[in-house]
Amino acid sequence: MALLRSWIDSANTAETPFPLNNLPYGVFSVGEGDLRCGVAIGDRIVDVTGLEAAGVLRADPEADVLDAPAWNDFMELGPAAWARFRAGLTALLAEDAGEAARDAVTTYSVPLARATLHLPFRISEYTDFYAGKHHATNVGTMFRGPENALPPNWLSIPIGYNGRASSVVVSGTPVVRPWGQVKAPDAELPRFAPSARFDFELELGAVVGVPSEGMVSVAQADAMIFGYVLLNDWSARDIQAWEYQPLGPFQAKATATTISPWIVPAAALAPFRRPTPARERDLLPYLREPGPMLYDIALEVALAPDGGGETVIARTNYGEMYYSSAQQLCHHATSGCPMRVGDLLGSGTISGPEKGARGSMLELSWGGKEPVALTGGGERRFLEDGDTVTLRGHAQGAGYRIGFGECTGQLLPAREMPGWAKGETE
Ligand code: MN
Repeated sequence: MALLRSWIDSANTAETPFPLNNLPYGVFSVGEGDLRCGVAIGDRIVDVTGLEAAGVLRADPEADVLDAPAWNDFMELGPAAWARFRAGLTALLAEDAGEAARDAVTTYSVPLARATLHLPFRISEYTDFYAGKHHATNVGTMFRGPENALPPNWLSIPIGYNGRASSVVVSGTPVVRPWGQVKAPDAELPRFAPSARFDFELELGAVVGVPSEGMVSVAQADAMIFGYVLLNDWSARDIQAWEYQPLGPFQAKATATTISPWIVPAAALAPFRRPTPARERDLLPYLREPGPMLYDIALEVALAPDGGGETVIARTNYGEMYYSSAQQLCHHATSGCPMRVGDLLGSGTISGPEKGARGSMLELSWGGKEPVALTGGGERRFLEDGDTVTLRGHAQGAGYRIGFGECTGQLLPAREMPGWAKGETE
C-alpha cells in the first residue's frame, strides 16, 4: 500500500500521523464552540458535523448521526455505512477532488493546532485484558516467583477484568495519585496511604462498533471492531499487590485510564495485519484465529519530570501480543454478556522480550530494584508527582505512517487525607 495523495499538502509528508490513508475519528471544539465530530487530515480537522449539515457528506440519509459530541450514533449504522462514509470522505480529500469538494472541505475544516480534543466516543463499558505473554511472565515472576509466573489458565484463556467506563479520560487530562490500602511485605497489617508505586501500562484499546446478544466467532468479533486507540491503564502496584487475590484488580486500576483522542479505523490498519505468535498450547477451537488479527504497530513510552525534558523509556510493538482483540472479544461474548456499541477493550500491557521493550515501570525497574535513568539526570523506580507519561504509536507504510496522536497525562500529588480516614469525628 502506498501513500494516498491529498490536495491538502500537509497530509502528503512521510512524517504526518494523519495521511489520507488514515482518516481517524475524533471530537473537537474551537474556543467556546460546540463539540463536533471531526476527522484528522495532515495538520487540519475536517468538521464532518458541518459537512453533514450542509448535505455534502451524509453517513445516514435520514438522521444527523454526526450532530453529536461522540461517534456512537455513527458506529450504530454498522460496517457497510462506515465503509461508504470513509470512501466518500476519501473522495472529497483525494488529489483529484473537484473544486466544489475542495471549497466545501475548506469551509468545514479548522487547523488542528486551534482545536481542543475531547473523548471521541461515549464509553459504554470498559474491560481490560492481560494478554501480553512477556508482561504476564515478568509480573508473575515478581509477584509469585519464576515457577508460577504464568497462571495455569493463561495459555488457554485471554484473562481480563471488568473495569470502570467512568474512569476513562482523554489524553491531556491530569491524573491524581490515589489513596488506598497498602501492606508492606513484612508488615502484619495494611495502612491507608497514597500509592507509592504508581505506574502506567502501555496498551492498545479496541472500540466495539457492533453490538452482540450472544456468542460470536473470532472472525465475527474482528468485524465488530470499529477502530483502535492508544490506552494507558494507570495502575497502583502497591494497592494491586494487597487486593488482587482472589478476584483480581479493583481499586488499583480504577483511578483513571487515558486514551488517545483519535480512533484509528480498523480499515486504515488493515494493510498492517500480522498473526499472533506460535501457540505454546493448542487453543480451544472457538478461540482459533482464522487469519492474522494483530497489527504491526510500533509503540513507545516517554517520561518527562515536571518541567523537564522527556526520555523514551520503552519501545515495543503491538505484534508482541499473545491474543488479539478479536480473540478477546469472542471470549468476552461466550458468557452471553451483551457487548455494546462503545465498549472499550484494553489489550493488556504490551511488552517485548527485551528489557527496553517493557510496557510498565513495574517491569522496567523490576519491581523498583533497578531504577531507570532519565536523560536530564535523575532516575525512576515508579512515577513521581509531576511526571508526564506519553504513549505514541504508528504503523509504518511505504513513505507514510498511520499514527494515533499522543496519549498523555501528568500525575498530580495525592489529595490531603480527609478527617474520616484519620478516624477524626465531626
Ligand atoms: Mn492493564
